[in-house]
Order: sequence, then structure tokens, then C-alpha cells
Amino acid sequence: MFQNSIDFAQNCDANDSLSHFREKFYIPKDKDGNELIYLCGNSLGLQPKKTSEYLKKELEDWAELGVEGHTEAEHPWMPYHEFLTQSMARIVGAKPKEVVVMNSLTANLHFMMVSFYRPTSKRYKIVIESDAFPSDKYAVESQLHFHGFDPRDGLILWKPRKGENLCRFEDLEEIIKQQGDTIALLMIGSTNYYSGQAFPLKKITELGHANGSIVGFDLAHGAGNIQPNLHESGADFAVWCTYKYLNSGPGSLGGCFVHERHANNPDMKRFTGWWGHNKQTRFNMRHEFEPIPGAEGWQLSNPAILSMAAIRASLDVFEEAGFDNLREKAVKLTGFLEFLIKELNDNRIHIITPSNPEERGCQLSIQVNSANKALHTDLTKAGVISDWREPDVIRVAPAPLYNSFVDVFKFVEQLKKVLN
Ligand SMILES: *Cc1c(COP(=O)(O)O)cnc(C)c1O
Repeated sequence: MFQNSIDFAQNCDANDSLSHFREKFYIPKDKDGNELIYLCGNSLGLQPKKTSEYLKKELEDWAELGVEGHTEAEHPWMPYHEFLTQSMARIVGAKPKEVVVMNSLTANLHFMMVSFYRPTSKRYKIVIESDAFPSDKYAVESQLHFHGFDPRDGLILWKPRKGENLCRFEDLEEIIKQQGDTIALLMIGSTNYYSGQAFPLKKITELGHANGSIVGFDLAHGAGNIQPNLHESGADFAVWCTYKYLNSGPGSLGGCFVHERHANNPDMKRFTGWWGHNKQTRFNMRHEFEPIPGAEGWQLSNPAILSMAAIRASLDVFEEAGFDNLREKAVKLTGFLEFLIKELNDNRIHIITPSNPEERGCQLSIQVNSANKALHTDLTKAGVISDWREPDVIRVAPAPLYNSFVDVFKFVEQLKKVLN
């Protein structure tokens, strides 16, 4: 299906109906003005050219309208987050009322655990995948501490077997079998940031729910990359950021999903703020708190409009391209990358990421035996922006919106040079 040649790569680009989306992004360049091979959209997505226009509009409205912009701006700031809801809901496969953009990822994770991690003396443990992103691990450990539990006892790691890099579903089943009645929460990174392994969300949710546990996902590496079908999965909650595959700029706001079955539950404990209160009476200030039904009821503060404007710009690009089209291209692009790496026939190289496209997104995590960070430095010098994870893994993620088949071809060429 694939061929190892630049002609083949160029031909794929020529026949790619999404190739013109690359021109809608700023591609970082080297000192001589040559475009870099940017394969780091899993860490920070590139800037859509539209973004500055959307930001400028809000700055102008602020300059011209001051506080009146809350109601009089072209996109009024008061309901601004609502302008993101439909497209964000499509990105994560949720109903609009299940989704809200607010806060940042780790903050949302904590707020979700306030509501959904309600331990008892018998059922208090949290399962996460080992090699979870450090912030997620700190967050769940601190929640255990906060409720008076020792993470050494309360935190269960779903680990790859010795000598393996991926987590097996049957090992999660085994954990549930052994310790199920003590497990309050499964909190899994939907697509593991290190290995690139995409987990079966629905299967995990069914397993957790059958055990009487709450199930939540961190979609930091899932949103805009895979289709998590959150509603269908049945997960209780999910959180994500928008600056990785969702291209909304460094430190931008996060997203949050609460399944509709929790939308109207008056007994649900939560930490509250005025933005989560009934919109009709929000400004009466002294009303007893009355949460907006659905995910919006978890909002605390009036949000950062400039970041929201950047998210809106990015989601408009996604809408234009269509997520299914992007995913179809991504499967091919990452497949091409995998093919070329295998063609290197270098026995120092091992791809950790699953080879089944259903079990991965854009990213491949490439383990290079006995390599060190110099390899990454050399690649950077050769014009490749990738990501290094100690001790020996390079992560590369061709993003279907702005990466080309030629990018992928040139990367593997550089990798080969640097390895020799
Ligand atoms: C990127 C990432 C984070 C970062 O958290 P912030 O709160 O946005 O700084 C957390 N968890 C995972 C799994 C990530 O990939």
C-alpha cells in the first residue's frame, strides 16, 4: 500500500483533499526561513492563521465597548462559552449539554474528582494507568491525601507486564477481580501520553460500572486526535486541554464532560461559583445556588474570552475539515510513518505504540536502544521538532490538519542520518 520514496509521499499529498489546510497554519521556520518538520502537535498544536483575527475582534470590541461588550460585542462575552459547545461536543462525541470549556485541565480534573470521587472507608481506591502523565498522578494522589488515605495503599497502577510497554485490558480486569470492592474510581488517560496507546473507553467504562466504580478519562492526548465517543462510552466524566491537538495556544482553557445522567442530580456535591448558577438569576447574587443543568453547572468563573476566541478559531478549522476526514487522513499518515520506520530495518528501533490504528491516534513513540538525548538534539539541529522522553523514547505525532506525507518522509530520512 505504501512505497518508500519521496515521489510516493508527494503523490499522497497531491491526492489529499485536506492538504490545503496546511496553508491555514503558521509553520515554524529555521533561521534561514525553511519550514521545520513539526511533529509536536501532541504537545503544542500550531497556530491557525485565523486565530489572530478572532483575538483582534475581541480586543477591538473591548476597546470600543468596555463592559458593554458582555452583552453588546458581536459575540457577547456573557454567553461566549456557548459558542464553543456544539463543535466541542462533536470533537469528543458528546451531547452539547454534556460539555463545557472552562479552567485548565488539571483544575478540571480536581473539580471533577470533588464531585465524582466520593470515597468511603471501604471503597476508596483509585486506579490509573502506570506512566500516567505526572500531573494526573499528583492530582489523584493529592485527592487520596485530602480524604485521609495513603496513596501507597489507595493508588492502584494498571501496569504493562514486565518486558512490555502497553497495558493489557485483561490486567485491568484482574485488578477489578482482586480488589474491586475497594475501588471507587477508575481515572484513565484515554490515549496514553507516553506510549500513544488509545484505550477502549467503552469497555473500560462497562468494566468499572459493573464493579460499582465511577469512571473518568483524561483526554489530553485524545481530544482532536481520536474520536472518544464520550456519550456512547458511558463514562461519568472526562477532562482535556485544548492546546495540544486542538491548536488553541499555550496554556489555553480546558474542556470538561459530565455524562447527561448526572445533569440534574441535586445531591451531586461540587465546588461552585457564580458562572455555574442559573443564568437568569446569576446577577441577583444572593440567590441560593442553583446549578445550570449539565456540564455548565460546574463552571466557577467568567472565562478568559481571549483564550475562548482562540479555541473558537481552531474549532472552526476542525468544522471545516470535518473530524472524520481528519481521522481518515491521520490513520494513513501515521501508517506511512510506521511503514517508513520499519523500512529502516534498524534493530535498535522499536515502536512502542500499538500497530492497530484502532488502538492509537496520530502519535508514534519510538524507542531507540542505547540512545540518549543527543539523538533528539541532533534531530532538532536537522530541523525536526519532536519530543524526547527519558530514557530512550522519541515521540512524533503527524497532525492531519497541517502535516504532510512529505513531512513524514523527510523526518524518517533525517532519523536515518542521525542514527548513522
Ligand atoms: C498535557 C497534559 C496535562 C497538562 O495539564 P495542564 O493542567 O493543562 O497543565 C495533564 N495531563 C495529561 C495526560 C497531559 O497530556
